[in-house]
Amino acid sequence: MEPIIGIDLGTTNSEVAFIFDGTTEIITDNDNGILPSCVSIGENGNIIVGTEAGNQALINPEKTVLSVKRYMGTDQKLKLGELSFSPQEISAFILKELKERAEKKINRPVSKAIITVPAYFTDAQRQATREAGEIAGLEVVRIINEPTAAALSYESTNPETRRVLVFDLGGGTFDVSIVRIEDGVVEVLSSTGDNHLGGDDFDLKIVDHLLKHMETEFNYSVKDKPAVMARLKRAAEGAKIQLSSAPYTTIEEDHIDKKGFKNLHLSLELSREKFEEMIEEDLVRTMESVNKALKDASMLPSAIDEIILVGGSTRIPRISQMLEEKIGHLPHSEIDPDMCVAIGAGMQAGREMGLEHSGVLVDITPYTFGTSALGEVDGEPSATKFVPLIRRNTKLPASKSEVFYTMYDNQKAVDVKIYQGEAPDALDNIQLGNYMFNLSDAPSGNEIILHFDLDLNGILKIKAVEKKTGNKINAVIENAISRFTDEELSDTQDRINGLWTEGRESETSLEKVQTGADVNELPSEYADIVRRAEEKLTEASEDDRDEMINLVEDIRDAVMNNQMEDAEKFKTELDEILFYIG
Ligand code: AMP
Repeated sequence: MEPIIGIDLGTTNSEVAFIFDGTTEIITDNDNGILPSCVSIGENGNIIVGTEAGNQALINPEKTVLSVKRYMGTDQKLKLGELSFSPQEISAFILKELKERAEKKINRPVSKAIITVPAYFTDAQRQATREAGEIAGLEVVRIINEPTAAALSYESTNPETRRVLVFDLGGGTFDVSIVRIEDGVVEVLSSTGDNHLGGDDFDLKIVDHLLKHMETEFNYSVKDKPAVMARLKRAAEGAKIQLSSAPYTTIEEDHIDKKGFKNLHLSLELSREKFEEMIEEDLVRTMESVNKALKDASMLPSAIDEIILVGGSTRIPRISQMLEEKIGHLPHSEIDPDMCVAIGAGMQAGREMGLEHSGVLVDITPYTFGTSALGEVDGEPSATKFVPLIRRNTKLPASKSEVFYTMYDNQKAVDVKIYQGEAPDALDNIQLGNYMFNLSDAPSGNEIILHFDLDLNGILKIKAVEKKTGNKINAVIENAISRFTDEELSDTQDRINGLWTEGRESETSLEKVQTGADVNELPSEYADIVRRAEEKLTEASEDDRDEMINLVEDIRDAVMNNQMEDAEKFKTELDEILFYIG
């Protein structure tokens, strides 16, 4: 069977997908599979495509072409140094690179492809895309619309008729489409957007902010210095990406420039809140386009069954939040927003090859993980509002931070509770951990950053940091995902393996905890259970052993501090584990 590859030929990045053993996969080449859509010409006249070409853009902009997709279907001549090319020819270099990647991986020549284009592409633009394929040695079996491909990528998860909103915000373009899928047939009902809105605009907003800061801080302007501007743009993009998972980031650029003999170092903290403020107007515009797309498809928001996010910029959390407010449910996040168009193209390629069904291989968390805070539950004030950090169906590994504020002046501590579940009231979810975090004296509003890291093995790492002092505590919850299924839930929730340490650089080893309990210091009823626990330690599983060591230490601390009620509680918990071990 002749192989057919699926290609997302994007403005900023391109990807290629193929079906291996019934599963659609993005083809990688010592990278994550994302090929920057950049073409440049090297010293020896050699053509360079991808990341290296993107780097060249900084040094030799006249020898590099970016965003060629914008010129498809026009007669514009594009320059690579002295040489001049049509947009089709430049696109063909990108397609050739993708074709070669595929051939290397599949181990066979590839001469057929499905290529995706935006729904709004005219016939001339589609024809130019076909020609680009032919120049690259690829017969373009079909051209499909990007929202169609994105919708197809999720097809395997739900076979019924669905109305899907595809929200595509990339580096330089924004499209929103309403798509109907019925019996495997995908129809684009409406499509609208803005050809000049995307992540690059958000980067520029941060750059403006940095320029203003430098003007006030150093009394100096860099606007006419391309090399400095290029560094600022890179730093701005890096900060923007970090703010998708963290509430704060610091932009550091040492030796950014010189003023007289003085070296200038840029260091500026940026909060997610501030960044969201900067781009709020743009995001409101995207929501207006959503309204228009709904209107053009004669649909109310409530008629939408699913939302699919496409494009790197949709990782900005505010976007999911706004869509949830408008449509009433959260967007899908199982498939990487950079990949779903290529995955859909790969699935369509599989169909053309006569392969019946093809799944997508994704690792996601089936549960939401979060904490509790003051807020509103069902319109009522509540002390236990569930605040999700890592949402159900998020692709793994996942990292997320949120900032929380103290309520009172000089609040001594916060009780950080970790929950798994979907209910708005944290008390209706499953508590995985509960950690006391001591704070320094500060007025109310003291910021605490809570960070969750959930890996492919279901290990949830938690870090809480007091922003003002940098004091932190860490915890690890093993098997946060797999262990908590159905009936096992309530049995297992008390037996989480928690490694918890307090203080600044907190790396207390388990061994240290183990030797910390001196049995002779304890009243006999406690000494007895501690001895029994120590005898059983070698037979216990690693999880139980860690839990037992922690409880022994808790008992000792409680007894030493004369907190006998706590001591009794820990003793009961330890007794339960010993009973369970038998
Ligand atoms: P695309 O055109 O779909 O490849 O998207 C590229 C754009 O997505 C660029 O502007 C990136 O800076 C942006 N982007 C990638 N990852 C993130 C992220 N985690 N948060 C915000 N923007 C991102």
